[in-house]
Amino acid sequence: MAVLCWYLLENPSKLRSQIPFNKPHLVGKESVYIEEAHSNGILAGDGPFTANCHKKLVELTGSGKVLLAHSCTAALEMAAILIDIKPGDEVIMPSYTFVSTANAFVLRGGIPVFVDVRSDTLNLDENLIEDAITPKTKAIVPVHYAGVGCEMEKILTIAKKYDLIVIEDAAQSICSRYKGKSLGSLGDLACMSFHETKNIHCGEGGALLINNPKFAERAEIIREKGTNRTQFFRGQADKYRWVDIGSSFLPGELVASFLFAQLEEAESITKERIRIWNTYHELFECLEKTGKARRPIIPVETEHNGHIYYMLIDRSFDRDDVLEQIERRGINAVFHYQPLHASPAGMKYGSTRSALPVTEDMSECIIRLPLWIGFDQHSRVLGELSDILAE
Ligand SMILES: *Cc1c(COP(=O)(O)O)cnc(C)c1O
Repeated sequence: MAVLCWYLLENPSKLRSQIPFNKPHLVGKESVYIEEAHSNGILAGDGPFTANCHKKLVELTGSGKVLLAHSCTAALEMAAILIDIKPGDEVIMPSYTFVSTANAFVLRGGIPVFVDVRSDTLNLDENLIEDAITPKTKAIVPVHYAGVGCEMEKILTIAKKYDLIVIEDAAQSICSRYKGKSLGSLGDLACMSFHETKNIHCGEGGALLINNPKFAERAEIIREKGTNRTQFFRGQADKYRWVDIGSSFLPGELVASFLFAQLEEAESITKERIRIWNTYHELFECLEKTGKARRPIIPVETEHNGHIYYMLIDRSFDRDDVLEQIERRGINAVFHYQPLHASPAGMKYGSTRSALPVTEDMSECIIRLPLWIGFDQHSRVLGELSDILAE
């Protein structure tokens, strides 16, 4: 008891429950399907649950073909092999993104060319893309930040004009739309994540979405260690052979069975996350009115999926200090991203054609707030944040 009292005095925030930033959601059927996978007697990849996930993902996204992968990182690496990135090839992308968006191309000798983002959505600024194109440019990788669609019409028009491939980093974008079309179905290729921090998850997981049919056959080969195993088992090849480069990118059936349970609930999970997101949005209007912070902006042509709720706090505050204070008050809020162009590997392997003021500015003001199924402490978060920003 004495030890507990001492602990609480030293850690006052523990007197109230700590609100975690994320709590991986379980729909309930995951364990049922895992047992079923075991009784099927197929635990390696591409068994019945993987097929179910592929079918469900095609239904949900409207993509032409889907292949499960170990992660979105793995799917991006598959995409880089698939589009034949060679040393010196340039790939246009935002600097405001997760490491894997760039790293996947660097592994093939490609050069990420970092372009600034729009200040409303924090998505790749479509008006800056053309200035970054050179004869070495091979692809554009728009990242749909927070599940809010990039200006895809313009991006696809530019890609067509310069004969570039579009790979959507749709890691955060399941069940989101742009002009009525699902994100992940718009580029030649798209990559999704089912990491535990994403809306739909299986711990670690991802998928490559193939919308340009010319990439379909080779994608299967790259995913199966460079062999034609998939075609062979479909009876489309007479021998099972090594035919190209590749790696082992396919997850086993235990992972696929867990994921399938989640995918079955994708629409209800999205609906609930949007409800929680909207509660933040309505409640935080008052904070925005004080001019001390601004809320996310969702362009009319997009429908998001409630993946992230963030606030951009006024530059007069020290964001890291605000995060430290909110943590001390029992709320686990986080920031991201550290802009890639200014990171050690980004400076070594990447390139920029002009300054990235919006990226630098936004990455220093952003606070991501807790959002998970079951979260209902919006008022407490608002109370603590208003209090901190009032000082
Ligand atoms: C999460 C994320 C990734 C990486 O996904 P993994 O499945 O963890 O590899 C890549 N890009 C973006 C934008 C992400 O949010």
